Amino acid sequence: MTELLTAPARTGATRPEEVIRAAEDLLHRGPPGMRQVINATGVLLHGNLGRAVLSGPARRAIVDVSGGVDLEYDLARGRRGPRGASALAALAAAVPAAGAVHVVNNNAAALVLAATALAAGRDLVISRRELVEAGDGIRLPDLLASTGARIVEVGDTADATLADYAGAVWSGTGLILRIHGGTSPPRVDPAALAALGVPVVVDIGTGLLAPEPALPGLPDADTALRAGASLVTGSGDKLLGGPQSGLLLGRRRVVEQLRRHPLARALRVDKLTLAGLEATLRHPPSPVVEALRHTVADLDARAARILRLLTAAGVDATGEEAEATVGGGAAAGVRLPSRAIGLPRRLAGPLRRHQPAVVGRVRGGRLLLDLRSVPGDLDGALISAVLDAARSAPAAGAGGN
Ligand SMILES: *Cc1c(COP(=O)(O)O)cnc(C)c1O
Repeated sequence: MTELLTAPARTGATRPEEVIRAAEDLLHRGPPGMRQVINATGVLLHGNLGRAVLSGPARRAIVDVSGGVDLEYDLARGRRGPRGASALAALAAAVPAAGAVHVVNNNAAALVLAATALAAGRDLVISRRELVEAGDGIRLPDLLASTGARIVEVGDTADATLADYAGAVWSGTGLILRIHGGTSPPRVDPAALAALGVPVVVDIGTGLLAPEPALPGLPDADTALRAGASLVTGSGDKLLGGPQSGLLLGRRRVVEQLRRHPLARALRVDKLTLAGLEATLRHPPSPVVEALRHTVADLDARAARILRLLTAAGVDATGEEAEATVGGGAAAGVRLPSRAIGLPRRLAGPLRRHQPAVVGRVRGGRLLLDLRSVPGDLDGALISAVLDAARSAPAAGAGGN
């Protein structure tokens, strides 16, 4: 109680509403640790909200391997075995064009490993446009330079031509890096780059292993490898919908070179990641892919049901047209038609402090809860959170307590 009285002062709150909010924060903080959040922002892969929501099978697999497990042990022979063999086999099976696969902590780590093993002390050739577009957020130029590779930018901010690449490649070139972050396709065909005689590494970001019908035109690993890439890198927790991880798929010789590099030991993933990734691969579709594939009719039906229950309880709730995005730095610019529940803006704070928390976005003075980023099995939890929030923050003059 003393803490409750002194905490507002310690946060520097002075105005009455700030003091009340600081005290409320303390009351609602609940047990320490990360809090569960229902992502109603309409951003499917929200970096601040843990990116991909894992599937039921992935969650169960992570719990199952939490104890002792044959991570690096051959139970049939009773001796050491290859690490994470079944997870890597599942990944290889999903990308037939890959001769070998490897998994590290995230896509940034995959790029660092590729640049270090293939281009430290050598040239890393990259189009200026791609370096600028992808630099945002992950500080890619600095990250690549930290590996000891010499970054050679070619072309201009519009794009690089085959002649630009050919003019930069010599015996001191370690690799050509393509970063497929944006939606505009690159001007130069990967097969033509592969003919220049140095490894072509394609960072597809999204982690899509095969073309996704709901997002035509987005790059995927299998297509990039068939088009001549030596190595593809991508994130495991973007459109694949798995745990945070970096996927490396490509020619056997190149992947082996990376896997055997001393740095690989510092970037290796744990049993929880391997288990979650394997279950995600073996039991599609992941919640992220389901969210991509929802039709507007599905979302309308969910919105109608939620609205019926909320309005029956006296909540000022409306159905709203909305636009969802993929987010997570992947597939920038892709927009998906969506439906949202509109609520009075004053519910935003109570919903964020609820357990589980609900995070939406404000548009035109209303709080929007976008249903495309909310897994369908959480509609019930969403409804009870809104009812709790409406009870705790009644409209001015509505006579609540
Ligand atoms: C997201 C992204 C990265 C960084 O991936 P992490 O898994 O967050 O490390 C790198 N390149 C591209 C093109 C991306 O979209």
